[in-house]
Amino acid sequence: MNPPSLCCLLFFLCIACNKEDDHHITPILQPVVDNFFLEAQRQSHDIKNTNDFTVTFGDLSKEGKNARTYYETRTIVVDSSTAAYKRDPEVLVFHEMGHLLLHREHKDSFIYMDMYVPGYPVKVQLWVPESIMNCCLLPDYEFDDDARKLYMKELFSFANV
Ligand SMILES: [Zn+2]
Repeated sequence: MNPPSLCCLLFFLCIACNKEDDHHITPILQPVVDNFFLEAQRQSHDIKNTNDFTVTFGDLSKEGKNARTYYETRTIVVDSSTAAYKRDPEVLVFHEMGHLLLHREHKDSFIYMDMYVPGYPVKVQLWVPESIMNCCLLPDYEFDDDARKLYMKELFSFANV
């Protein structure tokens, strides 16, 4: 089994992208949404929060998804009951905002990166998703500051806006 498929088994971020209603941000997710725009600034990316989209919780279990973007109504739905959400809500929301606001497609490539693995004292080189826009995100390694910086840089560098 090659590393990407292993990764997909460890953690498959099922995301599809479609539609829904009205424009508001669920308060719990507001800091995450705010961070997206802060990060855009940090990456010197001129993207303004036009408040014309919704980020809300919903049950996506029937679809087997962790999060979903509905383009027609500019609505992102996040399922807070999923392991993916509990592990890292920012990754889920940023992935969807990447679709909706940066007009990014999936990028399912992998790279070697030094990562901390829980219970192990030093970083180890792992074959990991190259982008937050990868469908197979964050298996059992720690998404530390260094990795986060790389992922943020990648996310905004390839924005289509
Ligand atoms: Zn996606």
